[in-house]
Amino acid sequence: MTTEATTGCAVAGGGPGGVVLAYLLARAGVAVTLLESRPDFDRRFRGDALAPPVLELLDALGLAQPLLAEIPHGTADAFVWRTPTRAYRLADYRRTSATYPYYALVPQGRFLPFMVERAAQFPGFRVEMGARVSALLRDPDSDGAGRVTGVEYTRGGERHRLRADLVVGADGRNSKVRTLSTITATELGAHLDICWYEVPRRDGDPPLSGLGLIAEPGATLAVLGQAASWQLGYTIPAGTFPELRAGGIGPVVGALRRRLPWLGDRLDGLTEVNQLSLLPVRITRTDRWSEPGLLLIGDAAHVISPVGGNGVNFAVLDAVEAANRLAGPLLADRVEPATVDAATAAVEAARRPQVDRDQERQKRTERDAARRLRTRDPRPPLVLRLLASVPGVAQWVARRGVRALTVPPLDARILHPAVGPVSPRRSAPPG
Ligand SMILES: Cc1cc2nc3c(=O)[nH]c(=O)nc-3n(C[C@H](O)[C@H](O)[C@H](O)COP(=O)(O)OP(=O)(O)OC[C@H]3O[C@@H](n4cnc5c(N)ncnc54)[C@H](O)[C@@H]3O)c2cc1C
Repeated sequence: MTTEATTGCAVAGGGPGGVVLAYLLARAGVAVTLLESRPDFDRRFRGDALAPPVLELLDALGLAQPLLAEIPHGTADAFVWRTPTRAYRLADYRRTSATYPYYALVPQGRFLPFMVERAAQFPGFRVEMGARVSALLRDPDSDGAGRVTGVEYTRGGERHRLRADLVVGADGRNSKVRTLSTITATELGAHLDICWYEVPRRDGDPPLSGLGLIAEPGATLAVLGQAASWQLGYTIPAGTFPELRAGGIGPVVGALRRRLPWLGDRLDGLTEVNQLSLLPVRITRTDRWSEPGLLLIGDAAHVISPVGGNGVNFAVLDAVEAANRLAGPLLADRVEPATVDAATAAVEAARRPQVDRDQERQKRTERDAARRLRTRDPRPPLVLRLLASVPGVAQWVARRGVRALTVPPLDARILHPAVGPVSPRRSAPPG
């Protein structure tokens, strides 16, 4: 049997993009159903670093203080690149925000349920866990491929149909929604892969910045400081994991022991390459972010490389832009498809230039990092070395980077939600 239901906005994917969008729309009074294929939000080794503007956004929503109070997290006030002989402070975040002058490393496994719990306080919000979107519903009478009018998903072996004024694909780098749509994706060619390993943090560990690179000839380690752990990334040229596996874990443990000797017995358990969690870095661009009745956001629209650590922040920025532009059209007495489609196109027009610019920058940075691995040069590029020695430049670099993540002001309907129950969905019922 297939169940049938209707909502204003069906969001496929409960990652940072999907949960923030669902929260914001529900707060504005839109009926939203969030469909997440996994049974829970448990996940490791994801983009966890919330940038100062994202923390300010959460503050405006009254969420930053409870989030930071409830969830143990690390903070990073600088990005530091350490070679065997020198530390280069390349970005200094201490003057980037009056209230949150740091990146907060909040594990997604805690951030996502936090947002979903808050969204559940709004009457229009529904979440379905273990709900895997498998097909797009289309209007056979509209032009072209047919306007997207909802999704089909499976949950616990049952099939469900959910009609919606708008479907949002926020289902990540391997987006099923994108594959089902008429939107095409192109890989821009990444140059690095990262192998992650996690060790517990201990009292007495050195006060690293929380966001750092430790480089030596032929090896680069990313070091992220969570509240209770260190997330360690061993960088390899793209596609060379089989060679790493064939060569054994020795070089990885060797680099970690040489450069982070204080980890001591915490590395004793790392005996096999298979214990590393491989993140094949990808940079993906799509030809469009939307088609009639459908919008892609976050990694579904544009996979961002972890270089720069902003995948989660970009997904949140997409969600804010989408909520701002779609709350009005989706709250209309009669939802007009043309107005919704104009709003989805406007989301892409507003966000895409920044995403494209960042992806180009990432390609250059990665290419350079891969070259440095090959040539065994552990130093930052010359221009960064020179800049790092000029007083004040690290602060300027941080301010510039953070300014690029500026969150647009929130629509008044989101900022000051109407009290009372959500209006029932008012567009025409599905045919
Ligand atoms: C394994 C991995 C490791 C990463 N590590 C880092 C890192 O170290 N640093 C960094 O900056 N960035 C990292 N990233 C990138 C960063 O996590 C993402 O950029 C960010 O999470 C994007 O958010 P999103 O909401 O767009 O998508 P995601 O966070 O990918 O969320 C997508 C959600 O959709 C769900 N889903 C998938 N298919 C379906 C379906 N058919 N139906 C319903 N739901 C579905 C998934 O279960 C998931 O919860 C990593 C990404 C991955 C995948």
